[in-house]
Amino acid sequence: GIPEVEFIWKNGKLVPWAEATTHVLSHSLHYGSGVFEGIRCYENPKTGKSYVFRLVEHMERLERSCKIAQIELPYTASQLAEATLEVIRANGLSKCYIRPIVYRGYGVMGIDPTGSATEVAIAVWPWDAYLGEEALAQGVKVGVSSWRQRSVNAIPPAVKSTASYMNSLLAKLEAKAHGYDEAVMLNEAGLVCEGTGENLFVVRNGVISTPPLSDGVLEGITRDSVLQIATDLFEAGDLDVCPLEESLTRTDLYVADEVFMTGSAAEVTPVASVDGRVVGQGARGPVTEALQRRFFDVVYGNVEQYEHWLTEL
Ligand code: PMP
Repeated sequence: GIPEVEFIWKNGKLVPWAEATTHVLSHSLHYGSGVFEGIRCYENPKTGKSYVFRLVEHMERLERSCKIAQIELPYTASQLAEATLEVIRANGLSKCYIRPIVYRGYGVMGIDPTGSATEVAIAVWPWDAYLGEEALAQGVKVGVSSWRQRSVNAIPPAVKSTASYMNSLLAKLEAKAHGYDEAVMLNEAGLVCEGTGENLFVVRNGVISTPPLSDGVLEGITRDSVLQIATDLFEAGDLDVCPLEESLTRTDLYVADEVFMTGSAAEVTPVASVDGRVVGQGARGPVTEALQRRFFDVVYGNVEQYEHWLTEL
């Protein structure tokens, strides 16, 4: 279950958790006309300070999602960022997951959403490592899904829509049924795309590769963070592999030295095997470990260079 807290921010007000409900005839429930974000707030265990990671960038992606989906958002990104801090504080949380959602509410039935109310909510709750604490150290078993990732001209990945997640759900349930922790989806061209809620990276021959946005991946904020962190480490001479955006095939996963996944929920999670083929040594590889350690240092506010990514609670 979801660990309940006291309040959810809804349409400008803090409402009790149990009262943050919606009508069964809400447009988005029937037609997938919702857009959302997933964000984390971290607490530095040493200093006791809390930071929301890349809050503004997440709210800006939400604005872009609304623009594409033609949902008029009645708040600015900075108002939503402020509301996020308000609801975290009101619940007395020092670390949590944050789920903003903008959706077409009650008002009309039929596909044309004109006339439905726009609802905006921000929920927060304590959420541990998405794929499990052990997964962060040991890695996950993934399987390539028989389901293809939604194509860019069907359900565009640039809009992080509720509609998009039927695709992820089918792949996730299939992966679990096959004994895997997570699925990797190929795109319609057969190239590696991403996980059901994560971007994907491969390390081999001195290069860290991740598929370009044009292969249909979500423009992940963790993906972007890891690319920037890796570039900076490489340029400083502290990492001997250089990051690159390039298309990948299924077999690139099988012969990789390391594979890892990134996401706001999944953070930086190593992949231990793909379709039953052990990746590298079958545990967290050295590059993954270095990037994971750096990522956690950054989100905990231990690296001055990236303080502009943090919003203090
Ligand atoms: N791909 C998909 C399909 C996702 O759902 C997510 C999670 N939002 C990601 C990638 C990772 O994106 P981010 O790092 O912004 O959470």
